[in-house]
Amino acid sequence: MRSQSFWVSPMPWMSSVDGREGITLVAPATGEPIGRFDYQTAVEALATIARAREAQPDWSVLTLEQRLDYFRRLPAWLAEHADELAQTIGTTTGKTRFDALTTEVLPSGLAIRHCLKHAKTYLKPERLRGGSMLALNKRSVLHRVPRGVVGIITPWNYPLSIPVYEIVAALLCGNTVVFKTSPETQPVGHDIDRLLQTAGLPAGVFNQVHLDGPVAGATFLGQGGVDYLSFTGSVQVGKWLAEHAAERLVPVTLELGGKDAMIVCEDAPLERAANGAVWAGLQNAGQTCAAVERIYCHHRVHDHFLHLLKTRVERLRIGPDTNHAVDIGAMCTERQVAKVREQIDDALAKGATIAAQASVPEAYRAQNFLPAMVLTGCHHGMRIVQEETFGPVIVVMPVDDDEQAIELANDSPYGLTASVWSMDRVRASGIASQLQAGVVTINDHLLSHGMMETPWGGFKESGTGRTHGRFSFESMTQTRVVIEERLPWLKRNAFWQPYDDALYHSMHGTIQVLFSGSLSNRIRNIPAMLRLLLRMFRP
Ligand code: NAD
Repeated sequence: MRSQSFWVSPMPWMSSVDGREGITLVAPATGEPIGRFDYQTAVEALATIARAREAQPDWSVLTLEQRLDYFRRLPAWLAEHADELAQTIGTTTGKTRFDALTTEVLPSGLAIRHCLKHAKTYLKPERLRGGSMLALNKRSVLHRVPRGVVGIITPWNYPLSIPVYEIVAALLCGNTVVFKTSPETQPVGHDIDRLLQTAGLPAGVFNQVHLDGPVAGATFLGQGGVDYLSFTGSVQVGKWLAEHAAERLVPVTLELGGKDAMIVCEDAPLERAANGAVWAGLQNAGQTCAAVERIYCHHRVHDHFLHLLKTRVERLRIGPDTNHAVDIGAMCTERQVAKVREQIDDALAKGATIAAQASVPEAYRAQNFLPAMVLTGCHHGMRIVQEETFGPVIVVMPVDDDEQAIELANDSPYGLTASVWSMDRVRASGIASQLQAGVVTINDHLLSHGMMETPWGGFKESGTGRTHGRFSFESMTQTRVVIEERLPWLKRNAFWQPYDDALYHSMHGTIQVLFSGSLSNRIRNIPAMLRLLLRMFRP
């Protein structure tokens, strides 16, 4: 369904005129009403998927060049509407408008540009060489074939930049798309509709549905559902989807939670590390799957590093973004604020200390703001060290050496991204090679979600599959290899019937020629192999 179905009313939660369920949104930073957004029903969603399925064959027979032409205007549209998009994203999620520009609008433009530039390479048919000597007369070409209807479900923390790459890559691959944003970010979903309308796509090619999560899961994966699902969200929902995807064997990519570790060696560039920890741990109020949540710092520089971190955190300005001069915005949802508070309380009750804090001005305490915080005195028995926090809290723990840092960093059910901070490249690379994470950055953290050529995705419960770069194009397609006999005038393949004793010995001899460890045995069996090959000329 396109934006026509994007019905907004001032009615309170679940009491719209025709009794539809829906959600009433208020701006997390100010408490001002945004509007009421109705959910569609499963029946309506299935009808949308059916329309996407109907549109897919015509879309997929276009040449890639024709499909690319639709998207060329999109980066300029983003540039023209950058302010407006930052405003909508900021109002809806509570994040600062600078965060919205830097981590939403900018990477969305980069994503589209990347797809426009590289889609041809990623989707080019590939000649497969280097097969066995016995298949020299075969020519194999690998083609990337669309999956059909791709479902894309995304969370509220990056409502623009997460879906844009997925949507554009899926469409360029020749799929049609049914996209669902989070209920909390439906105004941003509306902007995604506007962005895609700029492309002027044929009807049914890009579709958006507004659904409550469980309805989306059941519809996308049930009968009449999608052919492939790209999901970004929590581990809990990811597991549920994986289980239900099995019923129709729907392929699923899962980009799930994280509990990122940052390792600070004693030779780290400490000021850079402290600045980096503040940005990667606290921007977007820490609501980032790859936010720095745990810092393992070498004991020799621990106090100095903590001091640097403390001075920076205490300087942060928290509040609603009215003049672009706020460093940390609000958290998106009340339930997330409550979850983070629980983890902080658990840590403090078990002996943690607040080493630094940026306080929330009195006037804003009624809204979804939490003080940005650094905790020390933590250990791996605490929820704040084991569970994803997804809030403006960084835990700093001293370590004796690199080995202990690696062991503790890996002591987590998550493995999304991690970072190592050291001036010694060899040492840092050595540590990186032992970290259980899908991305490891050296002397940086988090930015690689905006580096479109690099794969995004994690180890362990952080998910399965990879997105971005060629990886999205690989997962949004299935391969079809076409193998052609180059010498069709040959009467037969050497191993076709009729079978007899002579054929058995020819094949046995051929295996000796190909694999025997003894040179003389290989040479001795060459005649047997030639006899086998000559069979190809027998009528
Ligand atoms: P969530 O799993 O609750 O919701 C994510 C999306 O799934 C939403 O659109 C929601 O409506 C939908 N949903 C909920 N239940 C569903 C169901 N049963 N079937 C289908 N869809 C359903 O997660 P959230 O709270 O919105 O987002 C925060 C989580 O997302 C965090 O754990 C965070 O780490 C993770 N995340 C991961 C990445 C990544 O790239 N790995 C990026 C951003 C966020």
